[in-house]
Amino acid sequence: FFARPWNFLRSVPSIETLPPIGETEIAFAGRSNVGKSSLINALTGRIGLARTSNTPGRTQELNYFSSGAGVIVVDMPGYGYAEAPKQLVDSWNQLIRAYLRGRVTLRRVYVLIDARHGLKANDLETLDLLDSTAVSYQIVLTKADKLKPGGLERVVEETAAAIKRRPAAHPTIIATSSETGLGMDRLRAEIAALAV
Ligand code: GDP
Repeated sequence: FFARPWNFLRSVPSIETLPPIGETEIAFAGRSNVGKSSLINALTGRIGLARTSNTPGRTQELNYFSSGAGVIVVDMPGYGYAEAPKQLVDSWNQLIRAYLRGRVTLRRVYVLIDARHGLKANDLETLDLLDSTAVSYQIVLTKADKLKPGGLERVVEETAAAIKRRPAAHPTIIATSSETGLGMDRLRAEIAALAV
């Protein structure tokens, strides 16, 4: 279904406006600037589908994308923007918690981590939330092109070791680059497999 054209479905600013339960949902989460929009655009082959934003932390909505073929991609708001007002952080947390707790069709969250930086405190908070809500998740390293091969291997190993005892974590780490296309076919294949 990645061969089909992807379209923006809707923007969900609060839990009350979630669409009715339907197709399987796969969500993408990560710190602002981690490369989430770039990854979604590379994955779906549609430049500009997910808006790459110069004002990190601005997106507070869940953005729904569909190809009409059995899976919905949900772009979660970026977290960890240092200058985000507390009110925005609180509303993000509320929306995310409600979404993660109640969405029975949510099959997996891909948590994006910048390969250069590894897991940071607010990433760990997100993993805690996912573990406590028992939502299956997998770590995707972004911007892998910025590392030397040996460096990338080390980050993959370190990250795998760090999540080893987390109950809802998928043990395999996927290294990607939206620039070179590294890991995209693998990610597409995994998402396609989750859709059935
Ligand atoms: P978002 O805030 O998580 O949606 O991040 P964006 O997709 O807007 O990307 C943030 C910045 O990282 C932009 O300047 C992108 O061009 C850059 N970027 C994103 N993905 C990659 C990648 O795979 N490789 C490299 N080198 N840069 C990337």
